[in-house]
Amino acid sequence: MIWTQGCSLHCPGCFNPATHDPTGGRPVRVAALLRRIRRLGHTIEGVTLSGGEPLEQAEAVLALLEGLHRTTSLSALLFTGYTWDELLARPDAGRWLACVDVVIAGRYAARQRLARGLRGSANQTVHLLTDRYLLSDLEAVPEAEVVLAPDGNLVASGIAPVRL
Ligand code: SF4
Repeated sequence: MIWTQGCSLHCPGCFNPATHDPTGGRPVRVAALLRRIRRLGHTIEGVTLSGGEPLEQAEAVLALLEGLHRTTSLSALLFTGYTWDELLARPDAGRWLACVDVVIAGRYAARQRLARGLRGSANQTVHLLTDRYLLSDLEAVPEAEVVLAPDGNLVASGIAPVRL
């Protein structure tokens, strides 16, 4: 999972407000990130981009996704707060669609909270761009995950992450 820093959409009730400030986070070069992901080899199935808002760092995120698409067999899943129509209206839409397997699109709407099938709220839409995953695969993903890292740190993630 890669969390990009910076989101101007400010959905009320956003689960990850710490990612809104575009000056926060930790800078990382795309080439270094690519190397790091490739070193993981077959220990991972794919890469998930979330945020923050990946589309607000489009050139860097596209360079990463295109590099992975060109040089690995990893899958790519993109969470964006922009709607599907907003994504399609972008001049770089074709590039996103060419290197991503699944897009979950749309603002988080707290009054339509769902936290299932990788959707935070019911207004969000799921787009399977390849035949790599089925909707049932997404439905099978637990709503939250807690990982105990080798250094003893606990990391919580998921569509409805628990607070540690
Ligand atoms: S688009 Fe995502 S990160 Fe941005 S405010 Fe909405 S829920 Fe939060």
